[in-house]
Amino acid sequence: MTRPEPPPASLQMRIDRDALMANWRALDRLSGTATAGAAVKANAYGLGVDRVAPALLRAGAREFFLAHWSEVAPLLGHVDPAMVSVLHGPRNAAEAAYARATGATPIINSLRQARLWNETGGGRCHLMIDSGINRLGIAPTEANDPEIAHLDIDILLSHLASADEDSALNARQLSVFRQVSQQVKARRRSFGNSAGIMLGADYHFDLTRPGIALYGGVPVSSLGAHVAQVAFPEAAVLQVRALQPGDSVGYNAQWTARRATRAATVSIGYADGFLRARGIGGALGFGDTALPIIGRVSMDMVVVDCGDAPVCEGDYLSIPFDLPAASALSGLSQYEILTTIGHRFQPV
Ligand SMILES: *Cc1c(COP(=O)(O)O)cnc(C)c1O
Repeated sequence: MTRPEPPPASLQMRIDRDALMANWRALDRLSGTATAGAAVKANAYGLGVDRVAPALLRAGAREFFLAHWSEVAPLLGHVDPAMVSVLHGPRNAAEAAYARATGATPIINSLRQARLWNETGGGRCHLMIDSGINRLGIAPTEANDPEIAHLDIDILLSHLASADEDSALNARQLSVFRQVSQQVKARRRSFGNSAGIMLGADYHFDLTRPGIALYGGVPVSSLGAHVAQVAFPEAAVLQVRALQPGDSVGYNAQWTARRATRAATVSIGYADGFLRARGIGGALGFGDTALPIIGRVSMDMVVVDCGDAPVCEGDYLSIPFDLPAASALSGLSQYEILTTIGHRFQPV
């Protein structure tokens, strides 16, 4: 028996593919003589690798970065394995074998990973240098280790800690990366993320690795003119209710009506990435009208004050997704707002 098609979901996510492609092209152009790759880890920052990867490929992206090996298979439905790299690297023999079986390229992050890759047969890989973020990557002092000399390194990478700030750490990391790249033989070099691209040509090398800005994030204001909003979520009104003065709304009765109020219960909650922080001072959109959120955000619902707007059950309200604005209002990072998007949005 075939399963019936599900009816339209109460949560819908429109992706503006043209904006996504234009963002990649802008970042590629801003990368100067370097080429832009694309960080598509965490299901393309929550937006869905199935929709994002084909658009980025069409725009011209040829290097795709994932964090986990579990992310490889979904991406391979869309791009050639030689274009796929895994940032966490091979943690054990099973992951090294999986890299070889799929053709995805491991990013070696430690002498232990280098030894593992060499001992299990070697082959093309990338190497991450930790130039100062102290997270993943070999230390500069380990660059002369024989295990590293044995690697067949395509891309030598490093990652900036404070690219979104005017920080002395940027130039310090650049200097460390330059020094190490004189000691390590590699075909290409890659340094800047989205914000790093805006630090100028010194930070570009051969390949940049934008993520957040592809998806409409603006990590530094200088990127604002080049990046367009990509994600447009909407949530359905489940119920409209008439509140009387003194009626409270939601868990822990954090809001109480002072006058008669039309309120709408909307199908989005913190399970959909709409965290409680986004409810405080937040609003949903009914056309051009902002409907203030009242009471606490629940797991699956939020309540808005309809004011005079003719909101009906079944209407869809827009979820604010201008990332810099939503971040400023909620205190959440633009990365958090994107990557916590849940699994209940229907692609439209
Ligand atoms: C996530 C990630 C990126 C992308 O960074 P953005 O700030 O989203 O542009 C680039 N490089 C590495 C190593 C990453 O982990």
